[in-house]
Amino acid sequence: MTITVGVLALQGAYQKHVKSLSRLGVESRLIRKPGELQACSALIIPGGESTTISLLMQEYGFYPAIKSFAENHPVLGVCAGLILMADEVDDKRVTPLKLIAFKARRNFYGRQVHSFTADVTLNFDHRPFHAQFIRAPGIEELSPEVEVLASHNDEVVMIGAGKHIALSFHPELNDDTRIHNYWLSRCKQTASN
Ligand code: GLN
Repeated sequence: MTITVGVLALQGAYQKHVKSLSRLGVESRLIRKPGELQACSALIIPGGESTTISLLMQEYGFYPAIKSFAENHPVLGVCAGLILMADEVDDKRVTPLKLIAFKARRNFYGRQVHSFTADVTLNFDHRPFHAQFIRAPGIEELSPEVEVLASHNDEVVMIGAGKHIALSFHPELNDDTRIHNYWLSRCKQTASN
């Protein structure tokens, strides 16, 4: 089965996802209009500025398009993308897509440590992932049916709900493609179900 992954390219760190996907031999395309989702079997919402991405999504009519796309296609949200996938966000300027039942807190790690790297523990692989956190959000009020997929210092940093995954660090900045690969294997599972 061939998967074509759409990468939402309205603002932020979308380009490097294309590289991670091509390393895995997976075709991708940059998405700038809702109609372009039709050619895709999965979607990545990248990191960036969630307030800006939210505004642009409203302007271009992405909310209804992504919500209905997500009913039967997998979505991966990274950092700002995680914020957009939440049920609730602590900043009213961001309208969430409500794809996973949790509350996102913007800039959770505060001014003190805007950006840092850390080895996070993955629940699906025995080797830790050297993760880059860039003004990362926090995951709060997680509903019990949501799976915890990675954690760092007792904080949940990656979650899964059915076909969707959201994480607070940037997996596309590493040569290590295990996170994308894991999501793609879940995508394939969903497609064959
Ligand atoms: N701090 C950003 C926000 O709240 C997210 C940062 C990122 O995506 N790296 O939107």
